[in-house]
Amino acid sequence: MGIAGLSFLVAEDEPTQQTLVVKLLKTQGAENVYPAGNGREALDILLKQGTGIDVIVCDLQMPGMDGMQFMRRIGEADYGGSVIIVSALERTLLASAEATAKAYGVNLLGVISKPITVAALEGLLGNQGAPQVKVKSRLGAAQSFTAAEIAEGLDRDQFEAYFQPKIELATGRVVGAEALARWRHPKQGIVLPASFIKLIEESGKIDDLTSVMLGKGVAFCSAFDKAGLNTVVAVNISLMSLNRGDFADRVSEIVQGQGLGAERICLEITETAATSNLGGTALENLTRLRMMGFGLSIDDLGTAASSIQQLTHIPFTELKIDRSFVANSTTDKTAMDVLKASLDIARQLKIKAVAEGVETLEEWNVLQELGCNLAQGHFIAEAMDAQAYVAWVRSLSMEPIFHSSNSPVQAKSR
Ligand code: C2E
Ligand code: MG
Ligand code: MG
Repeated sequence: MGIAGLSFLVAEDEPTQQTLVVKLLKTQGAENVYPAGNGREALDILLKQGTGIDVIVCDLQMPGMDGMQFMRRIGEADYGGSVIIVSALERTLLASAEATAKAYGVNLLGVISKPITVAALEGLLGNQGAPQVKVKSRLGAAQSFTAAEIAEGLDRDQFEAYFQPKIELATGRVVGAEALARWRHPKQGIVLPASFIKLIEESGKIDDLTSVMLGKGVAFCSAFDKAGLNTVVAVNISLMSLNRGDFADRVSEIVQGQGLGAERICLEITETAATSNLGGTALENLTRLRMMGFGLSIDDLGTAASSIQQLTHIPFTELKIDRSFVANSTTDKTAMDVLKASLDIARQLKIKAVAEGVETLEEWNVLQELGCNLAQGHFIAEAMDAQAYVAWVRSLSMEPIFHSSNSPVQAKSR
């Protein structure tokens, strides 16, 4: 299989390079060629209905969303097509970019050093007898909504908190829950965050969602208290909210204003947000929130290129290892190395490590052996509405589930 008949997406920020690659593909008979100036644009094109993209030709250094962040996003979205990295970076960097893309589960055909040539492309596309291109793939399509629809959904209280348990690996006890936003859409049913978080952020309504999630998290904690069980609830926070001068006070008002201790709420901040040019306001908010007693978690560790030093600037209490490293750790050495390094960082920072997206007993056992503190994932339970969560916890205290030889999952009672 050569270039002819395939559809391409070219993610390249440099205009002359982009034009060159697009022309080259077209003259070789590519069916469609979609240009994008960075990862974000490329992702938008992929998410558009009906755009079957066979091969993504992707640069690494791009403004906005760069090539590595883009690899993570398409890995998470289970993009089934093929990817070629084209870059001017030095060999050692290209090798690590290649390993990272593979760790994310991306079907990487190979890496081409700039300038790109027809021969190099055809070599990777299997013209020489290795047709490994997966054809006509789409991202698991996110639904698309308008800002007005979302605003109406918020006004009508259609946004819910689902809860996913966090389990202590050494004991199997349930120690907390992460609140994950779900839109109970009157026509579409339960809609996942991938279809609305970005839009809510863009339409300036993210603080409204955060308030809803905090409010529902507080109510959940209080209900648990009444049942004689103790839990900590984690709420995801957008970088945008952190940049508001009154953010810490608003959080405190919602939580402590309802009589709940700050230590019962943990705020999860993505690693990208935690280290990308945090302005004074965001740092002040985080420091004040920690001083008030809120937990602070680094979400999705391993998905941005931060140094430990950067992370020490913020008083985090927990670190969450991205699911891509957990999922591939049992088969991929790079993913295992990232997992071990992340656990080392947690030890150095003297904070708890949480593994995200644990799906198998094998992963659970690896994490237990490596001394990871907490785990979350479908192997234990998916996110559930508050009522189902309570029933789930109750069922544990009646009959503990054994998730490995020595790890009964059980509710933590006070
Ligand atoms: P996150 O905070 O890293 O949350 C973990 C995501 O992994 C959740 O996806 C969860 O349902 C999913 N997950 C958990 N266990 C497994 C597993 O074993 N396998 C797989 N494949 N997935 C698993 P969800 O609920 O779709 O949320 C996606 C992201 O949306 C979250 O990532 C978070 O960044 C964002 N988000 C969710 N709720 C909110 C919110 O209220 N506010 C903000 N700002 N962002 C939110
Ligand atoms: Mg989270
Ligand atoms: Mg995460």
